[in-house]
Amino acid sequence: MRILRLTKSGLPLAWVSREEAATLYVKGQVLWSIGDNPSSIYGGVNPLGERSCLTLSSIIACDGDTRKRNFVPALTNRLLFRRDDYRCMYCGYEFDESHHSGALTLTRDHIRPRVQGGRDVWTNVISACSRCNHHKGGRTPEQARMELLAIPFEPNVFEFMYLANRHIRGDQMQYLQARFSGQRYWQAA
Ligand SMILES: [Zn+2]
Repeated sequence: MRILRLTKSGLPLAWVSREEAATLYVKGQVLWSIGDNPSSIYGGVNPLGERSCLTLSSIIACDGDTRKRNFVPALTNRLLFRRDDYRCMYCGYEFDESHHSGALTLTRDHIRPRVQGGRDVWTNVISACSRCNHHKGGRTPEQARMELLAIPFEPNVFEFMYLANRHIRGDQMQYLQARFSGQRYWQAA
């Protein structure tokens, strides 16, 4: 299980391990926390034979953390394919997380192709099966007479954190989802 680490103003910063979270608690850096299901982590035994125990919340906000105002989420195929629900956004073919199915592979397609000056940014890329990508070639969807199933978008920081973790707990999902941009087209986990 990962703990969602926030800045003190509530912007997601990172997913951290329970051990990392425990260190933040011990150093007194946790300013506030939320979440329904706190978990316990046990430490060493003191000279009186008592075992120390820390209660960890699933969402913690820490002192000193900042997040740049203009957050630009890194564009990787892993996150892109997850944004697009492992689906070809031209023919709708569904992949699993291996990104392969028979002879087909899930690929990153530049909607406005790079040979036509298209940029490698979230709003110009979409998941496409290798067959559709090959068919489209160096053309725009209009030139290739292909239709997009969805409009690509750049994830905000809350959506980015959602995409970056496959195992999000209910209370964490609730926190992130309440701040989604509304452009998302995937199904809630
Ligand atoms: Zn396809």
